[in-house]
Amino acid sequence: MRSEALSFLGKGHFVPLLLGVLVLFSGSFPRESPASVREVHRPAVAPVPRGPSRVLLEEQTLRPAQGPLANLSPKEIQALVATNLSSLGPISVGRPNRGRLINGVSLPQVGGLEIMNSERNFGTRATVDSLLAAVAEVRAKYPNTPVLRVGDISRAPGGYMRPHRSHQSGLDVDLGYYYAVDARWYTKANAENLDRERTWALVEALIAQGSVEYMFMDRSAQTLLREHALASGESPEWVDGLFQKAPRTEAIIRHTWGHLTHFHVRFSDPEAQGTARKLAPYSRGLALATAKAAAPKRRAQAKLRRR
Ligand SMILES: [Zn+2]
Repeated sequence: MRSEALSFLGKGHFVPLLLGVLVLFSGSFPRESPASVREVHRPAVAPVPRGPSRVLLEEQTLRPAQGPLANLSPKEIQALVATNLSSLGPISVGRPNRGRLINGVSLPQVGGLEIMNSERNFGTRATVDSLLAAVAEVRAKYPNTPVLRVGDISRAPGGYMRPHRSHQSGLDVDLGYYYAVDARWYTKANAENLDRERTWALVEALIAQGSVEYMFMDRSAQTLLREHALASGESPEWVDGLFQKAPRTEAIIRHTWGHLTHFHVRFSDPEAQGTARKLAPYSRGLALATAKAAAPKRRAQAKLRRR
């Protein structure tokens, strides 16, 4: 082998090869330039110690988040709860599967949306605003985008709503897919009808809004979107992290049966949830209201048991 390699460097090849090697390497040799001359005179930087990094930040004053209850005394809060609850803005009480919504925001019927049930389109401010912003982003990117159908969010007072377990506290939204063909609400998405480009743009925009906790989406729809995302040049590492690989990963996009006709988005709203937590010690009323809103569920379960 060695002699063959050497014989390749015979008279005929050696000179052009040598020139080629010089041309190749000439770009990587440091050249003396005014910039590199200046670098020589930079003050020496102390070597960075290895091991756990320690970052020293400038001294800062931390201010608590400005919510509707900021700067109010316990007495003032108590008075507002009793007499002017609406001044406290949206309040997401309890948990999405055992909770209640106070001062919910109605999702407006704007262009690009079709609200499927106007009695079930109440959410917290972050839920509604994030959804509107994401849809607007898709429509700005793709001008001829059909309407996005919005299924259930929550009822105005929140609480149990058939047939859902969650959707009780203004944080859950059922969204249709974008279809490449004319399709009704609750059409099963598949490789022929799913508008991968727009649906992926919507998913991406929702996540970019920063208020999405997770999404429930059937595995087969996930596969189609994942393939599209990778084919359109998204970072494989980022895409892999978004989609669920095994049943128990904490990926944002998770598989749950029944989500091929629509997908479910769970938002988080630190302000509306935080207000509820802050009000809890003051408001026997809020606690009672939560129990009342959850009551129909117990009645429904009792009815089922009777059948
Ligand atoms: Zn849902």
